[in-house]
Amino acid sequence: MNILVIEDDPSVRTLVKAVLEHNGNSVFTADNASDGEEMAIENEYEMIILDLGLPDGDGYEVCKNIRDKNIITPVLILSGEQETDVKVKCLKVGADDYLTKPFNTEELLARLEAIERRTQSGSEQQLSCGELKVDLLKREFTINGNKVQLTNNEFNLLVYFMKNKNRIITQEELAEKVWDIHFDTQTNYINVYISYLRKKIREHSDVDYIETIRKKGFTFRCDQ
Ligand code: CA
Repeated sequence: MNILVIEDDPSVRTLVKAVLEHNGNSVFTADNASDGEEMAIENEYEMIILDLGLPDGDGYEVCKNIRDKNIITPVLILSGEQETDVKVKCLKVGADDYLTKPFNTEELLARLEAIERRTQSGSEQQLSCGELKVDLLKREFTINGNKVQLTNNEFNLLVYFMKNKNRIITQEELAEKVWDIHFDTQTNYINVYISYLRKKIREHSDVDYIETIRKKGFTFRCDQ
């Protein structure tokens, strides 16, 4: 597996990296929240190991932010906090499991395996609409089996559309939910991204899935 480890304590980071690499994984590391979050959003990992106490922020925020970007990579939290409410808070912001420091490396590996089994058996990693298929874990989009390369923004937009099909979605909603910003009528970039996405879909399909609803927004049409 490709695993991202976000941990500021160099001894823990080195230990976790060594153990995971010894077990055949490729390990990438970040020692602060902002780098870790950026890596998690920009790259494809199969697992994220996340420390709670980071020098420039906390793991809750990192976890929440990457889930808000529709990244469903499993997250295991590592923390010295033993309190139940801390563990509950982690699970509520989208973490998959929690391991208390100091930990036994065998338990770490066993928990990662258990998370992997649970997440791979779930069907929620796939979205489909007829010929359109999205694999959320691999962040892969195919039309009739043909892989379509999308940028991160286009991918996030497509996922939001597919999760909210057959209803009118306003530009304000897209700005807030996909880009996490306040909508500004002066900018046209949402329309620009929609036209990119529409064009890429039309290169492989005869169907125009994204309907523009005049003065209201857009509807992603999917009857299947
Ligand atoms: Ca720490």
